[in-house]
Amino acid sequence: MAKRTELTSYAYRKMRARVLAESDVCIICGHPDSDAVDHVTPVARGGARLDPDNMAPIHGVTGCPTCGRKCNNEKSDRPLSQVTRLKTSRDWYAE
Ligand SMILES: [Zn+2]
Ligand SMILES: [Zn+2]
Repeated sequence: MAKRTELTSYAYRKMRARVLAESDVCIICGHPDSDAVDHVTPVARGGARLDPDNMAPIHGVTGCPTCGRKCNNEKSDRPLSQVTRLKTSRDWYAE
């Protein structure tokens, strides 16, 4: 669970805007209109905290307008590789 201060910080919002400008297709369900971003590799597991390359679009507290899933809740702190095998146009697991 990410800390509140991190989620509301200026640096986070700036990075979220940058990531969502590139793509708003949710990494969990594959639908567009993501309103949040989350870490591909959790910070607790050594992922970069404010690196756009470690961030993926995801549906936040309001959920997905297409399928209704609360994607960020489903993911929690697990690595994305454990919650989805979804193929996107971007290979998040490339070296
Ligand atoms: Zn989603
Ligand atoms: Zn969806």
